[in-house]
Amino acid sequence: MSKTISADRLRSQGAAILVAAGSSPAEARQVAANLVMANLSGHDSHGVGMLPRYVDAVLEGGLSPNAEAKLLLDAGSVLSLDGQRGYGQVVGEQAMRLGMARAKEQGSCILSLAQAHHLGRIGHFAEMAVAEGLVSMHFVNVKSRPVVAPWGGADGRYGTNPCCIGVPLKDRPPFVLDFATSRVAQGKMRVAHNQGKTVEPGLLIDEQGQPTTDPGVVVVPQSGGLFGALMPFGEHKGFGLAVACELLGGALTGGGTWHQPTNSARAVINSMLTILINPDKLGTQAAFETEALAFIDWLKAGPVAPGHDAVLIAGEPERAARRQREVAGVEIDLGTWQELVDAGQKVGVRLEQ
Ligand code: NAD
Repeated sequence: MSKTISADRLRSQGAAILVAAGSSPAEARQVAANLVMANLSGHDSHGVGMLPRYVDAVLEGGLSPNAEAKLLLDAGSVLSLDGQRGYGQVVGEQAMRLGMARAKEQGSCILSLAQAHHLGRIGHFAEMAVAEGLVSMHFVNVKSRPVVAPWGGADGRYGTNPCCIGVPLKDRPPFVLDFATSRVAQGKMRVAHNQGKTVEPGLLIDEQGQPTTDPGVVVVPQSGGLFGALMPFGEHKGFGLAVACELLGGALTGGGTWHQPTNSARAVINSMLTILINPDKLGTQAAFETEALAFIDWLKAGPVAPGHDAVLIAGEPERAARRQREVAGVEIDLGTWQELVDAGQKVGVRLEQ
């Protein structure tokens, strides 16, 4: 069971909850717009369904409304910032704007952002960079709950550590590869659980380390108060990338890695290492433009496998979802809607049904 809501209405209702939770109207609009863009892009796991968690995190003191990214170090093409547990949608954009200006000027920038609250869809930051003709790479760790099992392990030890690469393509929409290093994003399990669905085999283990198709094992506490775990994607290779995200996003930024048992705190702390490259300053702009397009065209010229409509490049599914949902509206399952109504009530906002 679900209801379909227009993007405009979702943005205004989301912003109303955020203002009531202490954000300035400008911050509330920015965060709500970012979340709704995730819904429009087909990633409901990072859409308005995150708001109840944000409200809880503010009420617990783990998320600071109206915080700004603080510059800790400026060494030319190396910038280090502290997100001060502010909304990741806000401090993440502040950090990216600084890093992008530096990459344009100097050719590259290594941008370290520690201790942001949830940065949402990491592809948003890559989209900012490619819109300015920059290549960007992002390695992110997640300090909230150890929800992913190591390759060869039988309990959750770390987060869904997203990795993202954005590449601009001349006169065409960009390549934006953006994914969690777990087989699926944790939020997708929350959405499936709220919809009362089971998921395909191979994604999850329960609190005893046994395979299961019940998404509830990572959403609500199981026997003994324990949670199950998500599996890493790509077997040992995906696990290796997840560890790299923890080492680069968590340790190298100084934001911290996860190494403790689960706790009940609702805050989601992300730290992100970003590498920005200006192809123009690398001296390869002309070759980059023609070779990139030649490769994409080559990929798409091949035969299409049974069960597929076309060979797509990363970023295309999100753009297609946006075209469809901008018109049709966003489908919100009733479980997620009820969580939004409850979150509103906690801060004195009554959502229209
Ligand atoms: P996913 O499994 O849907 O994979 C998405 C990526 O695969 C996109 O780049 C997409 O364009 C590409 N893709 C999808 N279908 C394709 C196809 N048929 N052909 C070619 N490419 C295709 O994404 P996910 O792992 O569920 O992650 C969803 C979102 O969650 C991401 O935006 C990620 O940044 C976000 N996330 C955030 C956090 C955080 O803590 N902030 C943690 C985990 C994930």
